[in-house]
Amino acid sequence: MDHAAILERITASMRAAPDVGEVARYIPELASVDPNQFGICIALADGQVFASGDADRRFSIQSISKVFTLALALGRFGERLWQRVGREPSGQPFNSILQLEHEKGIPRNPFINAGALVVTDAILAGHAPREVLGELLRFVRAAAGDEDIHIDEAVARSETDHGDRNMALAHFMAAHGNFENRPALTCGTYFHQCAIEMTTRQLALAGRFLIGGPRSGGLISPASVRRINALMLTCGHYDGSGDFAYRVGLPGKSGVGGGILVIAPGRASIAVWSPGLNQHGNSQLGTLAAERFAQATGWSVFG
Ligand code: GLN
Repeated sequence: MDHAAILERITASMRAAPDVGEVARYIPELASVDPNQFGICIALADGQVFASGDADRRFSIQSISKVFTLALALGRFGERLWQRVGREPSGQPFNSILQLEHEKGIPRNPFINAGALVVTDAILAGHAPREVLGELLRFVRAAAGDEDIHIDEAVARSETDHGDRNMALAHFMAAHGNFENRPALTCGTYFHQCAIEMTTRQLALAGRFLIGGPRSGGLISPASVRRINALMLTCGHYDGSGDFAYRVGLPGKSGVGGGILVIAPGRASIAVWSPGLNQHGNSQLGTLAAERFAQATGWSVFG
């Protein structure tokens, strides 16, 4: 299979795409990003790496960080984590508060904002935010094999200044006894984790720990690899998760910075980035590119 040619073809057709979607405006620092950018990179299980387009431009990974914090939390708490957060698709937007009232402050899954806040709250308990963010960066850098991965403070500040909705989710869960730290402390840590900046290439390399098998690097257990992939497939794109599974057929996690991490179990970690989003807050061209990639390679978890 000529991976390089596949990526070049996809990049060329994304450059010509008429509708690139809309950048996230609710985080002012992200609103100024040029939507006409596209990058794709694949890191194969055998160690080969192929990249195309703007694959070396840094972007805000936002909700893709939820995959890394979940990996840390599963390592630390194991099955106990599921007492505080569910593992069902929500069918709701990523920042919805609707179900929380019905379900008594237990979020549906770790990838919607409420669920990710609980995960961050859990790993934060008993530690300073600086320590937890340090541990997270160490994990991401080890996974990527690259020390040059950092938090963009301007993005973290921008979200902190406009974080009322996430603060509301946190307070609501605190009211139900499902929060261990002050909402402002957990939200501040969460905004910083979301503000990690990476290139598409770094993200593809970092995702290798989810491929499974000997090349996964042993950062997490094989059982956690399978479970995180299951959650990415069912919940990684919020109320667009079913559509992503139908079109791409591989587990994926999106972020409002326009990145998507896609895992082809046993084969590769794939990252795509284009800042324009669709109506669900998932990258418009990133989704299309992942779909084209899956078609070109024939890779799918469904055979
Ligand atoms: N930091 C963003 C938020 O909490 C992450 C959302 C996302 O990437 N979907 O709103």
